[in-house]
Amino acid sequence: MQPKKNIVHLPVYQPGKPIDEVKRELGLTEVIKLASNENPFGCSPKAKEAIIAAVEQTSIYPDGGAVELTQAVADELGVQTNQIIFGAGSDEVILMIARAFLTPEDETITAFPTFPQYKHNAEVEGAKVIEVPVDANGKHDLQAMLAKVTDKTKIIWICNPNNPTGTVLDEHEITGFLDAVPDSVMVVLDEAYVEYNVTGQFPDSIKLLDKYKNIVVLRTFSKIFGLASLRIGYGVGSAELIRSVNQVREPFNTTTYAQKAALASVRDTGFIEFCREANAKGIQQLTAAFEELGLSYFEAHGNFVMVDVQRPGGAVFQSLLRQGIIIRHDPSWGYPTKIRVTVGSEEQNNKFLAALRHTLGEVTAS
Ligand SMILES: *Cc1c(COP(=O)(O)O)cnc(C)c1O
Repeated sequence: MQPKKNIVHLPVYQPGKPIDEVKRELGLTEVIKLASNENPFGCSPKAKEAIIAAVEQTSIYPDGGAVELTQAVADELGVQTNQIIFGAGSDEVILMIARAFLTPEDETITAFPTFPQYKHNAEVEGAKVIEVPVDANGKHDLQAMLAKVTDKTKIIWICNPNNPTGTVLDEHEITGFLDAVPDSVMVVLDEAYVEYNVTGQFPDSIKLLDKYKNIVVLRTFSKIFGLASLRIGYGVGSAELIRSVNQVREPFNTTTYAQKAALASVRDTGFIEFCREANAKGIQQLTAAFEELGLSYFEAHGNFVMVDVQRPGGAVFQSLLRQGIIIRHDPSWGYPTKIRVTVGSEEQNNKFLAALRHTLGEVTAS
């Protein structure tokens, strides 16, 4: 039996090794995972209470429309409830956008390197993906992306801050870009790390929704809210666009646990503030050490830093792994000597830095 032609070449997602397996294989008692931009402080205690309470509703289908959560987020953002759609992570919102809008006749534009799910889902729909390299500072090259717009362009994906580089586009850059993009082209602004912003450089994209009817903003509960295992995120856009995305949504795509935990998390602003401040200090801690070590890094606006270790990234990954530290290096980024490290707690960052110092002595410079 033949699957769709356009999926035959797609790789099956290779997850990182579970911490327990790494411990067993390497005989380690402690392993620190700074690889997936998860929150080192876990989630809000209020979210845990909400999950425990939700156990009683396990046999009942969830609220397919996530009504209470949608209302709470709409109030928080100052938009209408029909402008929001929830997904099993923002990953699923990306999937639903691609499913609702992309066909094999369409073109779609992304940065490179960037979050892989835009390309992946576009390819599943058979659309042509045009990847535009980020600039030397790791930032989206918006002029080059604009130059790729044709009458076939359907969606442009902007990851802000960009994963894996960590760089941010400010409001001026975003609005200049939006002014130049035809109204018929959807611009997806993926803001998975927006809550970590401390610099004021970040655009108020929700406000931009009034003027630009062609944008969809993506947010997630997986990062600062610490609910990655529950799979919940959302998209915000014009009622018309969101309605189209809703038409392809599965009836019960988010669980009761996820909805209740997200609702409790939105209300616990103290936890978010704590995590934001700890993250900002963590970035300082890491980048100060990188400077002392003579390592260059991209400006970091999320909860991770991309640093050039001046040695083969795969060897650095292995050396750190042997010391019980899991970071991320992906050969497909096109940065053979860069690694991405998630900002951990102060103690985790110190352990990572100690291991990195050892690694820099162990692995020869390339
Ligand atoms: C982590 C991440 C997401 C998705 O997270 P979900 O867990 O699917 O909500 C989306 N975009 C970017 C850029 C990310 O880094």
